[in-house]
Amino acid sequence: MTYTPSESRYNTMSYNRCGNSGLKLPAISLGLWHNWGDKDNFEKGRMMLRKAFDLGITHFDLANNYGPPYGAAERNFGKILKLDFSNHRDELIISSKAGWDMWPGPYGNYGSRKYLIASLDQSLERMGLDYVDIFYHHRPDPATPLEETMGALDHIVKSSKALYVGISQYNAEDTTQAAKILREMGTPLLIHQPRYNMFDRWIEPDLLKVLAKEGVGSIVFSPLAQGLLTDRYLKGLPADSRAVKDGRFLNPKHITDNKLNVIRQLNTIAKSRNQTLAQMATAWVLRMPEVTSALIGASNVGQIEEIVEALNNTSFAGEELEAIDRVLMK
Ligand code: NDP
Repeated sequence: MTYTPSESRYNTMSYNRCGNSGLKLPAISLGLWHNWGDKDNFEKGRMMLRKAFDLGITHFDLANNYGPPYGAAERNFGKILKLDFSNHRDELIISSKAGWDMWPGPYGNYGSRKYLIASLDQSLERMGLDYVDIFYHHRPDPATPLEETMGALDHIVKSSKALYVGISQYNAEDTTQAAKILREMGTPLLIHQPRYNMFDRWIEPDLLKVLAKEGVGSIVFSPLAQGLLTDRYLKGLPADSRAVKDGRFLNPKHITDNKLNVIRQLNTIAKSRNQTLAQMATAWVLRMPEVTSALIGASNVGQIEEIVEALNNTSFAGEELEAIDRVLMK
């Protein structure tokens, strides 16, 4: 069926400025890491993208190796773009990345100029695009000089294959260096993509300060800790959940009684705010001014609708934050 985006799509979403740049990102963005592979239901993925866009989610995040198999999410996304979004390219922020294992041999991994430039060319072909809006180096590479990796990002922008560039999983020190090198080359570092959620707060002591100082935005991935910070696992292990269906990145053995006890207590705090835990976990990452966008995943349309409603209540009383901290410290 032909897709006509909702006319009210820009009425409720908030859009936050990404660092010191001119670009605004939706407070909630959608990533295609899981559920857009070749074994996943294509029409279901298509409906999730339509619903996201109808709700004002203008940013879709991909990477060369999302699938499985590697490349499949970009290929499937490209098909959906052509079917449903061909008249809306200028309303979308599409990102991709390279940095993890992609193809055999010494040129399909890490951070060399050779790998990054070839990988982006392949990503563009799979998605049927002339350019991505944001291209990331997906993880730090200790063996390649930062000048080479940043030089590749600079080249990519100057050759019009990406409008902006970002880095992911870099620590505070390497982020400062990367920002400096890129600035000197005339290509500002737009954004950092770190993991951030109630169970993983590594960015709080140093990285956020660096981002504020450098004027770099951030989009935080796995704000729901891959589904743990929801009510998904409170009544057992659902057969269609990531932990059971996939098991590679979130495994039933990570879901211990202790963890469930903490999640239950967080769920009670969420209820006292008239939110679901998924909504509170999303609002919680967005409380930091350095966080431009919460980068969620979803396996059905209802999850996206639920998360977007988090924006109805993103402020926290001091006592609520303290109560959350107390639960997390147990
Ligand atoms: P989340 O922490 O948001 O987890 C998403 C999962 O949580 C969903 O697949 C679903 O799991 C569950 N979920 C979502 N909404 C709800 C809800 N309302 N109620 C109950 N369960 C819900 O994020 P992801 O871990 O998926 O990561 C998001 C994106 O971040 C990725 O797609 C990718 O773009 C990016 N990313 C980047 C990385 C990097 O290195 N830069 C690394 C990892 C991710 P279920 O399938 O069980 O329903």
